[in-house]
Amino acid sequence: MSLSSLSFDSSTIIRIDDISVNLDEQRLRKFLSQIKTIHPNVKILLAVSPAVFDMPNRDNGNGEISERVFPSILNAHSDHKVFYQIERIGIPNWLSSVTADFGCLLASHGLIHVDHRLLPIDAQEMSIVTSLSLIKANIFVPPFNKYNKDTETVCSDNKVDLIKWEDGWNHLGYQPFSDDGRNYYVHLHDYPGEKLFAIVT
Ligand SMILES: [Zn+2]
Repeated sequence: MSLSSLSFDSSTIIRIDDISVNLDEQRLRKFLSQIKTIHPNVKILLAVSPAVFDMPNRDNGNGEISERVFPSILNAHSDHKVFYQIERIGIPNWLSSVTADFGCLLASHGLIHVDHRLLPIDAQEMSIVTSLSLIKANIFVPPFNKYNKDTETVCSDNKVDLIKWEDGWNHLGYQPFSDDGRNYYVHLHDYPGEKLFAIVT
């Protein structure tokens, strides 16, 4: 099922970004199980980041940063190449079972979590096409919701559905969840511990 076919029905979508080897599978499963129990018709889109920083090794013990894909300090850097310094790479070994168990759709979130507008078109194409091939998906969710004309060209040339923030994606940190047919997105690292399970009620 492609996202294009999804847009013909009125299901609410929850997109989870920054799905990576750093994520706690059991926390994700518990969150998805809660969503599906309370709102069985909600569609789940998992946006996967294959190449990430080794955040569990940088954690100070409170668990708040271990599920991130890059240190938040990097956002302050003017040079986007700092995002190239990744330390772990892989597709989570639980991804296909979680996807099957909860009927999720898969998307790529780029090979590397960098603002793709800052990459030349050839590099964008490598990031998008390679990551989609690894994940076996055909939907691209741009990191930071940032894309440009080149991103659109690459996606169109490769028959990839490009997720555009402007199409009405609501950040669950700012818009409370409601099963109202709208599209929402969330990062699990924003909700450490039990906070995660208070979002969707
Ligand atoms: Zn992201």
